[in-house]
Amino acid sequence: MSEAKTGKMRRAGVIGWPVAHSLSPLIHTTWAEREGIAARYEAIETAPGDEVFRRRINDLRAEGYRGVNVTIPHKERALKIADRASKAARAIGAANMLTFKDDSVIAENSDAAAIESIVLELPLRPRTALLLGAGGAARAVLWALSSGKEAPRVLLANRTRGRAEEIAAIARADVIDWAYRNDALSAADLVINATSLGMTGQPPLDLDYNRLNAGAVAIDIVYSPLETALLSAARARGLRAIDGLEMLMRQAAPGYLAWLGTRAEVDADLRARLEAALKARGA
Ligand code: NAP
Repeated sequence: MSEAKTGKMRRAGVIGWPVAHSLSPLIHTTWAEREGIAARYEAIETAPGDEVFRRRINDLRAEGYRGVNVTIPHKERALKIADRASKAARAIGAANMLTFKDDSVIAENSDAAAIESIVLELPLRPRTALLLGAGGAARAVLWALSSGKEAPRVLLANRTRGRAEEIAAIARADVIDWAYRNDALSAADLVINATSLGMTGQPPLDLDYNRLNAGAVAIDIVYSPLETALLSAARARGLRAIDGLEMLMRQAAPGYLAWLGTRAEVDADLRARLEAALKARGA
């Protein structure tokens, strides 16, 4: 008899600080409801600090949790406490997924897998990518761009050049000065914003959108608001624009499949629910 039928609750969650805003519970609950699985996926607020984090993980394991997603500010910490880690998580230096298996904790990075799948599904293989940002998310994007046989050349621009130089080796990216980002824009057939610019409460992403390459695809990983200046500018020029919800939905799938169920469909219905949730909070 299945665990759902015997009433045994499968448990997982997302750990962050703050985490109440997270859309992950909605994604996982939607999938679990579709499958009729008895599952609980919670937002687990956990203050920064190695010891606090480690204790929280131990408690969750003792309570029978199957795993957790990890978000700001714990992604590096998650990798540190794991017994094993995927190649991607090690290269990126951060994990957004911890799976509790027997006596061990396994770290993975499904942010990278999400971007990799988005890029793989593009009709054309990008040859030159402009990646903006050098924070945690940018590191995952950079790793994703470097995987696969036909990896594009990556131009990497970040306000703090030193941070870009620190991470460039992940994909042998060419670091360019933030001041020259518009020159790189015209050379790129894939543009990815992995900074927090354009996010509600942050300054806008200041780019000369007239210099967008005529065949470019634009990806913004910011999802609040959903329609950023980069995406609007790309759409206005008839270019393909992919928003941050696409990455958010896709990064959730590996955790769901590892901990809760067997079908994690990233589809229009899931997107509509997430868009409604964003709208309800005024994003
Ligand atoms: P982070 O580690 O704090 O990095 C922030 C990045 O933004 C850095 O590159 C930083 O540059 C840049 N930045 C911030 N303020 C700037 C400014 N005024 N001018 C120029 N650059 C500025 O954050 P993160 O974790 O990488 O997240 C970045 C964004 O991605 C957030 O909006 C987050 O919500 C989003 N995200 C989305 C997903 C998804 O699934 N869609 C997943 C993860 C993250 P410096 O290095 O110079 O400070």
